[in-house]
Amino acid sequence: MTDVFVGIGSNKGNRKKNILRAVGLLERYGQKIIKISSIHETRPYGYKKQNLFLNAVIKLKTGLSPEKFLSLCKKIEKEIGRKKSFRWGPREIDLDILFFGKKVMKTKKLTIPHDDLHNRKFVLIPLTEISSKLVHPVLKKRVSEIKTV
Ligand code: ADP
Ligand code: MG
Repeated sequence: MTDVFVGIGSNKGNRKKNILRAVGLLERYGQKIIKISSIHETRPYGYKKQNLFLNAVIKLKTGLSPEKFLSLCKKIEKEIGRKKSFRWGPREIDLDILFFGKKVMKTKKLTIPHDDLHNRKFVLIPLTEISSKLVHPVLKKRVSEIKTV
């Protein structure tokens, strides 16, 4: 079993319900939820002219490979009603794999750890809340010590 940290965001529809539904579906599809951060309201990142987001981070245990886990995340995004939008655009739900154990990988479909997490306060703050001693396997820093620019 591998410890996985997932960043969850929503800025469309009933944002809180979407986030809780994503957590419920992860559990229903066999993932063991260990921790859930508080839900924070944050300004949109990248593309600014859209609604505020709600963001949270969860820790879970999985028996899946990274690729299978990504497919599960995409299936859940679809189930909650996410339509294709553009990068950083509005979405009912966004599930990003932040860390997958100590795994470091980069393929066309999947970069682990998530390649932008060190720049995102809305990820670092809830990560620190639930797991401040967690070490980023590339930056070799605790999440509580990573400073965004
Ligand atoms: P974004 O979150 O950047 O706005 P998407 O959620 O649409 O965009 O994700 C785009 C693609 O990013 C996904 O289809 C997936 O293949 C890829 N991806 C690469 N690394 C990750 C990761 N760590 N977690 C989730 N998706 C990832
Ligand atoms: Mg995403």
